[in-house]
Amino acid sequence: MDPRRAIPAVDRLLSSEAFEPLLAVAPRRRVVAALKDVQAELRRGLAQGADAPAELAEPALYARLVGERLRRRERAGLRRVINATGVVLHTNLGRAPLAAAAIEAMVEAARSYSNLEYDLDAGARGSRYDHCAPLLRELTGAEDALVVNNNAAALVLALNTLARGREVVVSRGELVEIGGAFRIPEIVERSGARLVEVGATNRTHPADYDAAISAETGAVLKVHRSNFRVVGFTAEVTVPELAARFGGRLPVVEDLGSGLLLDLTRFGLPHEPTVADALRGGADVVTMSGDKLLGGPQAGIVLGRRDLVAAMRRNPLCRALRVDKLTLAALEATLELYLDPDVALREIPTLRMLTAGAATVGGRARDLAARLAAAGVACTLVDGASAVGGGAFPGAALPTTLVRLEASLSAAELDRRLRAGEPPIVARIVEDRVVLDVRTVQPGEEGELIAGVCGALA
Ligand SMILES: *Cc1c(COP(=O)(O)O)cnc(C)c1O
Repeated sequence: MDPRRAIPAVDRLLSSEAFEPLLAVAPRRRVVAALKDVQAELRRGLAQGADAPAELAEPALYARLVGERLRRRERAGLRRVINATGVVLHTNLGRAPLAAAAIEAMVEAARSYSNLEYDLDAGARGSRYDHCAPLLRELTGAEDALVVNNNAAALVLALNTLARGREVVVSRGELVEIGGAFRIPEIVERSGARLVEVGATNRTHPADYDAAISAETGAVLKVHRSNFRVVGFTAEVTVPELAARFGGRLPVVEDLGSGLLLDLTRFGLPHEPTVADALRGGADVVTMSGDKLLGGPQAGIVLGRRDLVAAMRRNPLCRALRVDKLTLAALEATLELYLDPDVALREIPTLRMLTAGAATVGGRARDLAARLAAAGVACTLVDGASAVGGGAFPGAALPTTLVRLEASLSAAELDRRLRAGEPPIVARIVEDRVVLDVRTVQPGEEGELIAGVCGALA
């Protein structure tokens, strides 16, 4: 007899006792879909000569396989994880967690209608672009501002508006890859402009720009080296120098990447120009991300000359890159916190994590280690470094105290088990040991972290 005929029918299985617990927690159609997949997989296996499992006719077999399939599916969805890597702007883990005020603003905008594109004073149509622009002007000194989907979109929009069908001049030392599929040469090309490279990888001089400028030039682009440094025999032409040379004749566009609003040098971070510095330096257009050092939602922010920003707003491409209302709500609330720098430093998680001193992080690490030890977990404290991440402050290391787990399991296996927990814990492996960096563990997550570690070691 063909063993496939022993596989029970869907209806019989669904009405069996074994399926009751599954149907109590998962939508019926999802259980049915998973069950059909499980049966199809078994049939395929049997057709290819696999041995029939002894319990092929038992509903319990199907309930177990369907349960596993549903749990796998659940894990594939977007979910919260505990970031114990110490990388503050971890692009793979969603970059910046939002401030409470930003989350509240998002919930409020999501729950009901809003004046997204409605002018309440005039009782007529308004523009979504009116929402964050006044705050951005106030905080950066820019003449005008525009918010789009992300910084990549902001740059495409800027170049397409200013240089479509014309040339964009960029130093060879700035033809960078940011990660994913973001490479400056390709972005320039996709924006409809032609790339003109000048200088060498390590050195570019004013004369290189002079020689490349022609009637065909649409813009001069300066790209912030967000995620690497060039050291040694180097030279570059700064934005103020470019502005002094070409200002008034050609737009100077600066892709700042991270976009720092506050100077953080007093917290031990290397000097980075703030957005206001870049604009004061003469950039006509600056682009930056909302979810890097700014600590807000994913967004692309364009700042600069009124006429140029207005042209970008009129560009039909702007509609394709437009920002949604939840982002605007979160960004506006985040920007409001910057009106008082002390409030921003306290309330914006990214800034709080970046500026937490060695003593604060060390205290939290000691506390975590003590609680883990009390729960029977062997661990030691070691000095280490957290990273800024997100293509910001390349090479900067924030002093931290790591909690090193002294387990007999291999580091790779412990790391895997931590990721398989609920909520998943993403840690780091240093010298073949799993280490936890509390800098990026959010307040209130410690209990779950300890339970997760205990569970992984059990
Ligand atoms: C991060 C970065 C980008 C891309 O920004 P997204 O907001 O991720 O699109 C572009 N340019 C620079 C210099 C960056 O650092």
